[in-house]
This record gives sequence, structure tokens and C-alpha cells, in this order.
Amino acid sequence: MRGSLLVDNIGELVTNSPGGDGPLGIRRDAALLVEDGQVAWVGPARDAPAADRRIDAEGGAVLPGFVDSHAHLVFAGDRAAEFAARMAGEPYTGGGIRTTVGATRAASDDELRATVRRLRGEAMRQGTTTIEIKSGYGLTVADEARSLRIAAEFTEDTTFLGAHVVPAEYADRPDDYVGMVCGPMLAAAAPYARWIDVFCERGAFDVDHARAILACGQAVGLGVRVHANQLGPGPGVQLGVELGAASVDHCTHLTDADVDALASTGTTWVSGFEPTTVATLLPGAEFSTRSPYPDARRLLDAGATVALATDCNPGSSYTSSMPFCVALAVREMRMTPAEAVWAATAGGAAALRRTDVGRLARGARADLMILDAPSHLHLAYRPGVPLIRQVLHNGVPQCRP
Ligand SMILES: [Zn+2]
Repeated sequence: MRGSLLVDNIGELVTNSPGGDGPLGIRRDAALLVEDGQVAWVGPARDAPAADRRIDAEGGAVLPGFVDSHAHLVFAGDRAAEFAARMAGEPYTGGGIRTTVGATRAASDDELRATVRRLRGEAMRQGTTTIEIKSGYGLTVADEARSLRIAAEFTEDTTFLGAHVVPAEYADRPDDYVGMVCGPMLAAAAPYARWIDVFCERGAFDVDHARAILACGQAVGLGVRVHANQLGPGPGVQLGVELGAASVDHCTHLTDADVDALASTGTTWVSGFEPTTVATLLPGAEFSTRSPYPDARRLLDAGATVALATDCNPGSSYTSSMPFCVALAVREMRMTPAEAVWAATAGGAAALRRTDVGRLARGARADLMILDAPSHLHLAYRPGVPLIRQVLHNGVPQCRP
């Protein structure tokens, strides 16, 4: 959108940048100017420059848009019956992924595209302005490539997850499947992918297979992320640290050595590029599988960098709501509201190694949300309430004219 846009009458501006109070860089009586899709100026409202247009925040809090760094949006069908069975007492094993693989292979491109569009819109209305999207329900060369091609229509942060599970047709020969993932599947997927990911877990891929797959991805220039330590203790977190992963995701079952390894990669990510390995926590998965939550306090107190993401997928976490994850993190994982908001914005940006999102300062992308509430505290304090009144993405209002 051309011309300048001033957002003023802001109750509380969360910048995640130096110059404000506390870790969220909070400013009061502030205004923010948008030009050419970027934040052009932040400062006291009384000093605000003239602009072509104005949005009155009506005393509401303004925050950076959420950065959801872990989502599986390219799939067909749903697994509501599996959820109901689980709530009636059946355990979650990850085996239901194959149900979605069958439905996804049978779907047309337009059906898959429509699902991504629907979920992307749902997330945007809840404040998510940056989202990572994984493949992983195709598990053939053609179906992984088309999943990523469709994902790339919606985000820059696409992730090749051919190593989600070993598909049924390879059940007796996982080595052959890993060879295919590293060979023709990676070659077909890489042009559409920024990242590579592996589900390193008992019942999915062991550490040797995971290391081989991630190394192949690195060799063709993809960044590394790992699904690790979700269902039990395992080597995934330390493998991620060893390979310099941008993020290890889930982190539900950690040893002291795992926590130390994550903390050793660095604590904060204030400005510039700090290649830490972020611990990305996905409390929607624990909620939806009725499992114990990850110990966020232990990670934060040790000095690890923590992000929050939805893990949006039809099996273990069918939510696109970052506000819901913030509320769970505060209530169930003993994060403070400020820690949870930071983790859902700047933390997600760190997990995607991006400096242009997750903060509101001059030069950042003009991705922000305006709340129907005076403070970021209300995101956890008023769970389940649609508090997000307006979202700007690249400086363009999304929710209403
Ligand atoms: Zn996942």
C-alpha cells in the first residue's frame, strides 16, 4: 500500500527492541509510522510526523505480529475421531500421521491449496504475520515437491519434512526410504524449501538416519530444524545442537545435558545475527494429546532461548492460535506473560533466524497487531477471547478497512 500510515493512541507498544522498558522494550504514549511496508519511525506520540493516513489504536496495546515457526498446513482430511478416542483414554503414538498421508496423496493441488489458505487466514486473524509451513504428509518424491510448491505460495519459510515418518510401503526397509529422502526427494524438494527437518523419535527416525538426512539437506544449503524429545528422552536435541540447528522443537523430555547443550548456544538474541539453537515449545501438542507440558522454566532459568509455536496439524495439535499457546505457556508452563509474548514473537523470529520480523523498530517489517485490550498481559489473562482487533501485514490492514 502506498503512502505513509501513522498508528497512534497506542495504550502500550511492545517493540522487543532497545529503547523501551524491560525485555519487551515497552513504550507508552508512543506512535508508529509505516512506509513502504516497513516501520519507518517509532517515538513519542507528541513528536509523531505527519502521515497520509491514520489508524487510531483507541488505547489498545500494539505488538509485533506473532511468528509461528512450526506448522504443518499442507494436508487433507482431519482426525477428529482419533482425537475423541484419545480423550477417551487411548495413548498418542504418532502412528496417525499415516492416515493423513493417505488422504493427502489422494487430494488435488487445489484441495491442498484451499486448506493452506483457510488455515493461513485463520492464523492471520489471530495475529500471526509470519508462519513456517512444513511438508511431510506426501512422502513420495512428487507429493513432497508439490506440498512445498504449494507452501511456498504462502510463506518464505518452507520446510522439507520428507522424514516425518517412514511410509507404510517402506516399513520393512527404512534404509531404502532414507536413501530416497536424501536422493531424489531432496533434489525435487530443495528448490521450494528454506529448511530441512526430521522427526527424530522412537517409531520415526533414529539418530543415525536423522543425522544423515539433515547433513544431506545442509549440503544443498538448507537450514536445519529437528522435531526432538517429544514423546520421550532421546538424542534429537543434542543432534540439533551438534549440527547448528536454528531450532529444536517440542523439547518435552529433556535431560540436564540437553538443557546445558541448548543454553551453551547462547541466551539472547537482541539484534543482528546470533546463531543460537532455539528451544521451540509447542504446548498445543501437549494439550491435544493430554501429555505433560515441557519445562519452560528450566530452560529459561538455564539461559536457553525459548520460542512458542502452534505445531498446527490435523493429528496432535489442530490449533492455529498463537494467543492460545501464550495462555497455555503462562498457565501450564510457568512462563511469565512477558516471556511468553517474547517467545511467540521475537523467539519465533530467532527460531527462523530472521531479523526483519518479531520486533517493531525502524527498518522492521510493518507486521503488527492491535489488541482490544490495554496491555499484552491480557493475551494470557483473558484466554479464549478474540482480543485481536486489527492486524497489519507488510503495513497492509488485514481485518477491516
Ligand atoms: Zn511438528
